[in-house]
Amino acid sequence: MAAQDLYELLDSRIRDVADWPKPGVVFKDISPLLADPVAFAALVDALAERCEGGVDKVVGIEARGFILAAPVAYRAQAGFVPVRKQGKLPCATFAQSYELEYGSATLEVHQDAFEPGERVLVIDDVLATGGTVEATIDLVRRAGAEVVGVNVLLELGFLDGRARLASTLPDGKLESFIVV
Ligand code: AMP
Repeated sequence: MAAQDLYELLDSRIRDVADWPKPGVVFKDISPLLADPVAFAALVDALAERCEGGVDKVVGIEARGFILAAPVAYRAQAGFVPVRKQGKLPCATFAQSYELEYGSATLEVHQDAFEPGERVLVIDDVLATGGTVEATIDLVRRAGAEVVGVNVLLELGFLDGRARLASTLPDGKLESFIVV
């Protein structure tokens, strides 16, 4: 699918929900996109193409990142690794606290999630302030792997997450399909 057609398809399937989960936040709801078999497949295929340089593991960030990253891992013949909210993973973890657009939280990854030097693509639905992705990059590196790219469906440009990640992620390694 041509890039412009893909952009228009994906953009048309993301729903703005005003004042959720709290006043002043416009929540980007991807439920219509996930429910549309053509749009969902197009997104998974496009993300899998970005694994073509060779990716060992695809990391999904809880929770919506899981929905996107797992089929991409399958399609790219890579493994899937969940980065989860605190207290959900049963074995020894690395933990990283971070600030959200609405609140703060801690993310964790299993210490044995990667082999040394494995190439990792990180996937999430929305990049807002960048704190979630920044914490995830930190966790992947602490667990001994290399972040070869970060892909998000949608980037909230006005929150400057891209600038926040600039010092940790070289140019060109952060890709988004839609910027608002
Ligand atoms: P941040 O750490 O500020 O970049 O926030 C990104 C994380 O919070 C992602 O996992 C998103 O799923 C979620 N998120 C933040 N803001 C929004 C929003 N406006 N709409 C949907 N999800 C959001």
